[in-house]
Amino acid sequence: MRNIIDLRSDTVTQPTQEMRDAMYYAVVGDDIMGEDPTVRELETLAADIMGKEDGLFFSSGTLANQAAVMTYTQRGEEIILGDTSHIYNLEVGGLSALSQVQPRPMAVPKGIYEIALMEELIQEEGIQRAKTSLICIENTNNLNAGMVVPLENINQVCALGKKHGIPVYLDGARIFNAAVASGVEAKEIVKNVDAVMFALTKGLSAPFGAVLTGRKEFIQKARWMKQRLGGGFRQAGFIAAPGIVALKTMMPQIEKDHKNAQLLGKGLEAIEGLQIDVSRIHTNIVTASVEQLPITIEEFLNRLLEKGIKAKRISKTSFRMVTHLGIEESHLQEVISVVKNIVFQL
Ligand SMILES: *Cc1c(COP(=O)(O)O)cnc(C)c1O
Repeated sequence: MRNIIDLRSDTVTQPTQEMRDAMYYAVVGDDIMGEDPTVRELETLAADIMGKEDGLFFSSGTLANQAAVMTYTQRGEEIILGDTSHIYNLEVGGLSALSQVQPRPMAVPKGIYEIALMEELIQEEGIQRAKTSLICIENTNNLNAGMVVPLENINQVCALGKKHGIPVYLDGARIFNAAVASGVEAKEIVKNVDAVMFALTKGLSAPFGAVLTGRKEFIQKARWMKQRLGGGFRQAGFIAAPGIVALKTMMPQIEKDHKNAQLLGKGLEAIEGLQIDVSRIHTNIVTASVEQLPITIEEFLNRLLEKGIKAKRISKTSFRMVTHLGIEESHLQEVISVVKNIVFQL
């Protein structure tokens, strides 16, 4: 079989040999009983990296997000979030099905939360009003674009939360992409948020999971929610072990992914007719549109696939390409040349 260049997502990576070895040799125990030393090591390491008191290992970012919202809210309350956020769009309606909260979405143009607008969305007290009990932000932000939220904007959101006594939760699935892109440590970015989740399976290339971090008391409550949702683990050290390796070894890869995304973006930009705004490439996600070309997005992606290249359709006319472990500069040269040929032959 021909080698496929899979640019659909940074979740398609294979674990490194070091991760496979770590899985094989992991020391394990019953994690529901609090006796898996490898899970505990991952949770403590994650908390340390985020500068938070404690951590909690989840099988997925989705589960971590939902358990966090369940921990912070009561049924019928409101939460403020970005209208393009993962938690609002891509978690199967979990907010209403699980926490039974009412989402109050706001637009987040260019990954920036407008503070005055956010403050307007906070409910006043009153017999007819739902209580606003949580603000959820996302960094990197924006469905399929991976844009970085400026640090001062995050701190403004946190100050607003503090002023109104509302906790701020950060979905930081790709927080290390944000850290690398802005040249600031993750710890600094999340300093003022109450809790943060990050994924081990995106740019970090681990095969499993996500870690939620925050104050001790919050994590303790979240542990109950995780258990309620059937997310409790037994000998999960096997799946936590590659996460530890990921945190210790994969940061340079993220830097490489960003360089490669720039390279890809510039190459695609030079192809006449293809629409792409390279100023939107903050991290490892490149989006472009075929709107001005005489081809449908489906046909365009089919022709890419015929040449062994996978990209993901993200709207009626646009697609994304995500760089990750396993994507080298030579692959990108090939992708650019294939796209050039497809467009040239139209
Ligand atoms: C991927 C992602 C999640 C969910 O993580 P899974 O492990 O795939 O469930 C949540 N939020 C954001 C912003 C993500 O990119």
